[in-house]
Formats: sequence, structure tokens, C-alpha cells
Amino acid sequence: MPVLVMKFGGTSVANLDRIKRAAKRVGVEVAKGYDVIVIVSAMSGKTNELVGWVNETSPLYDAREYDAIVSSGENVTAGLMALTLQEMEIPARSWQGWQVPVKTTSAHSAARIEEIPDENIREKFANGDRVAVVAGFQGVSPEGRITTLGRGGSDTTAVAFAAAFDAERCDIYTDVDGVYTTDPRITDKARKLDKIAFEEMLELASLGAKVLQTRSVELAMRYKVKLRVLSSFEEQSDTAGTLVCAEEEIMESNVVSGIAYSRDEAKMTLVSVADRPGIAAAIFGPLSDAGVNVDMIIQNIAEDGRTDMTFSCPTDQVKRAEKAMEDAKTAGEINYHDLIADTDVAKISAVGIGMRSQSGVAAKMFKTLSDEGVNIKVIATSEIKISVLVDRKYMELAVQALHDAFELDKA
Ligand code: ADP
Ligand code: ASP
Ligand code: MG
Repeated sequence: MPVLVMKFGGTSVANLDRIKRAAKRVGVEVAKGYDVIVIVSAMSGKTNELVGWVNETSPLYDAREYDAIVSSGENVTAGLMALTLQEMEIPARSWQGWQVPVKTTSAHSAARIEEIPDENIREKFANGDRVAVVAGFQGVSPEGRITTLGRGGSDTTAVAFAAAFDAERCDIYTDVDGVYTTDPRITDKARKLDKIAFEEMLELASLGAKVLQTRSVELAMRYKVKLRVLSSFEEQSDTAGTLVCAEEEIMESNVVSGIAYSRDEAKMTLVSVADRPGIAAAIFGPLSDAGVNVDMIIQNIAEDGRTDMTFSCPTDQVKRAEKAMEDAKTAGEINYHDLIADTDVAKISAVGIGMRSQSGVAAKMFKTLSDEGVNIKVIATSEIKISVLVDRKYMELAVQALHDAFELDKA
């Protein structure tokens, strides 16, 4: 029988009623004849609570224990979903990552899926199970320890299962009815897209649009998974939601397709470092060794042989970055007068494949922000995106102004 993957995010399994509602959706697909792999997230808020407990117990925690703790939210929902389906007389069984097994790298808290052998679940389908409910977000390392895939990782679990089982489709059920031109919580002018290209979705996701985890889009693109985002709160047809697809499948595209933002960005400045060959390597080597994901970098013009180096990284890595820099200073590898962390910033990005062929997007973006009195602190560009760092208090204003300026409310 054909396999369908259905993923339910945190708000879609937030309580027993919602789990029932989701189970009914699963029942509809089972009745159509699919063997269904259901991927569940933890109940909304649960993972944050678990992360909070970890941080309170041990600020520079052992990542293996972080994973042991933080993965547990999904185990509860997987079991509850299986029980709910059984109550509906649908043969279902829950699966934790290690039971499948979802084999990952040992990069704890940011592991990558390497392989999902399909035999165990296929055998259960062959013997009458109609649904395999898999705990999202988790796997098992070569050392046999539990791993997690990074925040939002259940999306990636879903796409990886769709690829491993050659599923007909991977449906991501969430609390919005598709992918919008920007987060619909920031402006009610946000417009739902019927289709979005993999490349654009990849950029939007990596720049903060958390509707899909970045890695899930990467996998869908690589394995040609038919990926759809839709609401778990509405009755659905086979064409509802947003289809994430190849660029060729989209007829016309705007220069800018979407605006993303991220609160989760800190700006770090090393004040007065020696301007000498090798200084960038001496700074960014230890940061990388400490697992800090550096995003934007600017080096100021040197004066009297010294310069300032500014970079951005996720806010929850600031402590690690500070420690890596202090250690490098103590070891005599770098020298600086001060290290200033500014966590009161946000990154705003405009994304669109049309930027490849059309100029003027950067100029329009800067003019729009300047008209609103928003100061730009750092700029970064690539082929299909422009990002700026601004004071956090301007985040909503900046997103709304850019959404208007690029007329994203109009098809
Ligand atoms: P889930 O718990 O189902 O995984 P998430 O909270 O991870 O859901 O992702 C859905 C949320 O993503 C939406 O509630 C919305 O606020 C946010 N979001 C951000 N950018 C976008 C966008 N461009 N389109 C749709 N939703 C977006
Ligand atoms: N529960 C995990 C998180 O909140 C994974 C997910 O929901 O996708 O990040
Ligand atoms: Mg999510």
C-alpha cells in the first residue's frame, strides 16, 4: 500500500482534544488506503520547559544529557497518539527514534539523520498495523546514545521518513494554513502562497521563518519529496496549503517572495584586536571548535594596527562564544580590549529568486528602512537574499514596512 507521512507540530498535539482531532485526520487517510507514518512533536511549550530545566541545572550542559532530557516530550505524544488511534480501532503502534532506528551522527542537539532502515516498520505494516506513530526530533548515535535534531527538528524527521519510505507525500500539519509572504503573526497583510520554490523556502527557513526547519527543506529538495504545509485546524482537501516544489513548477515569481525575521541573533564585537595576518583564523577557529554558528561578519578599517571585529551568532550561543574568546585570550592566541555582546538586535531578511536577475532590491530595502528611521547595524547578502541587523524594538516595524514596500500582499 502507498505510504503517506503526516507530521503534527506542537500546537496540533497541545492537549488530548487536539490529539483526537489530529487522529481523525489520520483516520481519513487510512480510510483512503494509505499506510500512514505519523510524526509527532512534543505538546507545545513542553520542549521549552525541558530546555529551561537543563539550563537551570547546568548552564554549560553536557549535550548528551540535554538530548536525553529534551527528547522526552515527543515520547509522550507518540504514545498518546497511538492510544488515541487504537481507541478509534485503527491498528497503530508508537516508535521512539532508537526503536526504528533513526540513525544519526553524534552531534548532540544538532544531529543529522544518516539512515532510516525501513524493515521494522514495513514488517508491522505487513502484519496489519495501519499507522506507525514516530516520535519526531530524535534519533540514536553510533555510540547508542539518544540524539536530537535541533529545534523544530520534527519537520526533518518527517521529510526523512518520506524519503526513506518513498512516501506519496509529506504533509506538515501546523497552526497556520500554509507558508506566507511573512509570518502572519507580524502583519495581517501577509499572503498565503500556493507554491514556493525549495530554494526560497530554504533561505526563509534558515533566516528565521520557523514554519519549516531548514534541514527538512534541504532533504526534501535532495530527495524530491512532495512537501506540503497545511493547517491541522481546518477541514482539508488534497490541494490545500502550500506546496514546496521545484522552481520550474512555479509560473511567475516576484523579485522578492518573502520577508523573514529572527529574534534569535546576537551581535558580538571584539574591540581592538591586532590587525595582522591570521587574526580571523585565530578568532573564528576557536568559535567554530566551541560549536558557535557564526553568521554575519564585519571587520572595521584598521587604525594604528588595531581593528574591531563584529560577528553575529544565535543568542543561546553567546555564553559559549564569550568563553571561547576568553580562553583564546588567556592562551595568548588573540588579544582584545573588550568583548561587547548586544542581544537586543533582530535580523530581517528579504528573499526571492527574482533577485538573481533584477537589481535594486538592496537599495529599496535600505531606503525603506531609512524612511522609517531604522538604523542598520550589519548587512549581509547572497544571491537570493539580503539581511540586515537592526535594533530589536524595530523588528515588527521593519518587517511590515518591507512587506508593504515590496507589495507582497499583491499576487
Ligand atoms: P509547529 O509547532 O507546527 O512545528 P511552528 O511554530 O514551528 O509550528 O511553525 C509555525 C509558525 O511559523 C506559525 O505559527 C508562524 O507564526 C510561523 N511563521 C514564521 N514565518 C512564517 C511564514 N512565512 N509562513 C507561515 N508561518 C510562518
Ligand atoms: N519539539 C521540538 C521543538 O520544539 C521539535 C519540534 O517540535 O519540531 O523544537
Ligand atoms: Mg516547528
